[in-house]
Amino acid sequence: MSRDLDVVIRAARMVTPEGERAGAVGVRDGEIVAVAPIAEDLTATRVVELADDEVLMPGVVDAHVHVNDPGRTEWEGFASATRAAAAGGVTTIVDMPLNSIPPTCDLPALDLKRKTAASQAFVDVGFWGGAIPGNVAELRTLHDAGVSGFKCFLLHSGVDEFPPLDADQLEQAMREIRSFDGLLIVHAEDAHAIEHAPAAGGGAYERFLHSRPRGAENLAIAQVIELARWTGCRVHILHVSSSDVLAMLASARRDGVPITAETCPHYLTFAAEEIPDGATQYKCCPPIREATNRELLWEGLRAGVIDMVVTDHSPSTPDLKALDTGDFGVAWGGISSLQLGLSAIWTEARSRGFTLADVARWMSEAPARHAGLSRKGQIEVGHDADFCVLAPDDSYVVDAAKLHHKNAVTPYHGRSLAGVVRETWLRGEKIDIEAAPQGRLLSRVTREGARP
Ligand SMILES: [Zn+2]
Repeated sequence: MSRDLDVVIRAARMVTPEGERAGAVGVRDGEIVAVAPIAEDLTATRVVELADDEVLMPGVVDAHVHVNDPGRTEWEGFASATRAAAAGGVTTIVDMPLNSIPPTCDLPALDLKRKTAASQAFVDVGFWGGAIPGNVAELRTLHDAGVSGFKCFLLHSGVDEFPPLDADQLEQAMREIRSFDGLLIVHAEDAHAIEHAPAAGGGAYERFLHSRPRGAENLAIAQVIELARWTGCRVHILHVSSSDVLAMLASARRDGVPITAETCPHYLTFAAEEIPDGATQYKCCPPIREATNRELLWEGLRAGVIDMVVTDHSPSTPDLKALDTGDFGVAWGGISSLQLGLSAIWTEARSRGFTLADVARWMSEAPARHAGLSRKGQIEVGHDADFCVLAPDDSYVVDAAKLHHKNAVTPYHGRSLAGVVRETWLRGEKIDIEAAPQGRLLSRVTREGARP
């Protein structure tokens, strides 16, 4: 066996599901076929030794990315998004069904999305479908075609072609998705509560924060939990921002409700008190809240109530961010961060005593499982040889203009981040973002292990 390996990578520090240790990884045909002690006599066509300051990590699986292609390619696009991903240590993205036109709410739209992505992807790409009013009959077809699950909104999504579900439609979608053991992922803010909140407008961040109160998020999540309890549908709460919901999530889990949750680097990095007025590059929904809330989200990760960290990369063109007027009422709500997620989280995590093994669990292992991508997210025999070579003690200052995102707008601009991504490997090959793209399109793997 040792003779016909394609690549062996030796690392003084390697992060596996068992934790961090010295080790060697053997790769054949793009798959990890050996994980061994560093001194083990593995021979291969190529042997790579990492530098002393580098750690071999599993490639990041970012399960929440808005690529916006086709239809709003000026906001982002598969080529730019996946280049940025590769530069940031991300080896798999799972694309959200909305902001592209058409949204991924039926099979022709999924086929179009796949055709668009196929020739442009520098990393592997999976897809979420959408649940909107009137498309219940499409859900099983999309599931059988390999989407990871279905996203829905409970209030206006920001784009008219992806309308929200009302309470009855939500229950109907959940009963249908339950019938084939699918997964519903929810943007949880309650429409009525937001309607009754004071309107956002002008440059004051505090006013914007009051327009998207925690209560609107708390109420929506309570509703989703009860519907999951009644229907048995597996559900996932997207971008948890309100720390109030941690107790609700823990309680639901204790009761056996099939629910998971994610949060995002911006909720774990920034604090409302520090956001300058008019700084609409920080606008996202639900919003970045207070520093005390941020620390409670970290405790939610520590306790395992929040399962994973994904970026919710949701860029737009600079004009739509209303940077000239700084008006939070009209600015596009979405934060650009795909290339920065790993460094941003590592920077904050290490200052709170977390390890790279924690980061790998939140950003690789858990999101891969969540999206039904059982070959991804771990340095383990039988998984794809997707790696990030990270220099965790090296640091850099973010320059938005030098990122590979299509538009140079991000709240991380000027921020010093720890953790430099030196290389990203996809299925046993180092990614070269100047060469031809080698990414593949992914389908959910059924829970029994077979491709759908
Ligand atoms: Zn999103």
